[in-house]
Amino acid sequence: MLIQSVNPATNKIVKSFDEMTDENLEIAVANSKLASENWKKSSYKERGNLLKKVAVLMRSKKTELSKLITLEMGKIIAQAEGEIDLSADIFDYYADNAEAFLQDKPLGPKLGKAFIRHSPIGVLLGVQPWNFPFYQVARFAAPNIMIGNTILLKHASLVPQCGIAIENLFIEAGAPKGVYTNLLISGKRASAIVSDERIKGVSLTGSEEAGSKIAEQAGKYLKKSVLELGGNDAFIILEDANIDKAVEWAVVGRINNNGECCVASKRFIAVEKIADEFLEKFTKKMKNLVIGDPMDPKTELGPLSSEDAAKKIADQVKRAIDAGATALLGGKRSDRDGAFMDPTILTDLKPENPAYSEELFGPVASFYRVKNEEDAIKLANDSSFGLGCSIFTEDVEKGKIVADQIDAGMVFINHPTWTQPDLPFGGTKGSGYGRELSELGIDEFVNKKLIRISGLNDPM
Ligand code: NAD
Repeated sequence: MLIQSVNPATNKIVKSFDEMTDENLEIAVANSKLASENWKKSSYKERGNLLKKVAVLMRSKKTELSKLITLEMGKIIAQAEGEIDLSADIFDYYADNAEAFLQDKPLGPKLGKAFIRHSPIGVLLGVQPWNFPFYQVARFAAPNIMIGNTILLKHASLVPQCGIAIENLFIEAGAPKGVYTNLLISGKRASAIVSDERIKGVSLTGSEEAGSKIAEQAGKYLKKSVLELGGNDAFIILEDANIDKAVEWAVVGRINNNGECCVASKRFIAVEKIADEFLEKFTKKMKNLVIGDPMDPKTELGPLSSEDAAKKIADQVKRAIDAGATALLGGKRSDRDGAFMDPTILTDLKPENPAYSEELFGPVASFYRVKNEEDAIKLANDSSFGLGCSIFTEDVEKGKIVADQIDAGMVFINHPTWTQPDLPFGGTKGSGYGRELSELGIDEFVNKKLIRISGLNDPM
């Protein structure tokens, strides 16, 4: 299969790549296995130095790397630059903290001594999506390289140049051969190599469909897996919220990354008393967004990641309207070349409407009016997903009580769901399992080995 890099702002092919041959894939797996034998014996200092160098290189090449992101998947340029900074911060964060996170943990048995030692498990496969081409890789690769595992990385076919650029950063930073390897292969082939006995774990970020295929393989071959899947995050506006602030954050929460964010705010749930005011102000701001070339710093909303993605969301909106929803704003593709979709607000969504439960991956907001806080919580939880949620209220204590009742992996009070190196990231229900980032993110692919020291004459 040919892997193509296409600029979604123009739909023009920029570059094409041949997939790796089976022979080269075998060499990559063999090198990764070989490297893991030495890497597991390396010191935290050596591993940390490598990640620090990657971070320095990333920052020094920020302009060219962010342009590559924007070119391949359409993120607006300022956000692409932010992604490079965030990714470099993640490499630094694990370089600085991994040794402390992975210290022996003393236990207190009645007799003798015991502790937990954290050991690497070997070669890991990472399957990553196109929506944050550098950040997604950083949050998987950085903690695992610090543990002493080695990485085989299958990136999304939309961003082959980003995938190659990341591998080149590791090469330039002096990574021993096999510690980090980019695999130019299809999802199907990635799924197939999970069965390889040299691969000890797999992490996938992406759709439920791909996640379930990988998890099936991981289950069949008894490999540890982590899944970071889709979301349908609720953004709840309570009666006492600061409406102007909530509106500002609602727009950011929905259109950040052109709306292609797993933790984007997707369902806006407002209690009756403030619903009209919120909706009127939100609609006005969404309507005034500057749409255009993502390389232009004035642009606020760029194209979707591909023509297929734009067709998919336009079709979802059409089906929603056919099933009785109202498009209060937008509702169709933009009148310009490229994979653009107009900012859209859907209302009158009943539970039978497909858009009530589907993930809408683009600048399309669903708006719901509810009687009170209790109904807002009920609606927020009425989803097969459980990734993030936002609650807007001036009463933080009330916000915490509501947060407690939300079935999601992350709840943000007075902010859209966000990410930073020291905050754990992950979901519940159909949004997957396991956590990335923070101390929790270094705890997934590690052997928590018990070491017990007994006196020779101790009883059983
Ligand atoms: P996708 O599932 O199509 O692709 C993700 C990766 O999986 C790609 O590398 C793809 O090639 C691979 N893949 C596809 N089918 C596969 C299969 N059968 N076996 C193995 N690998 C396969 O997803 P996408 O369109 O690239 O990304 C968008 C999705 O990712 C959205 O649902 C979004 O919510 C989700 N996402 C989740 C998070 C999170 O942390 N929870 C973060 C970003 C994106």
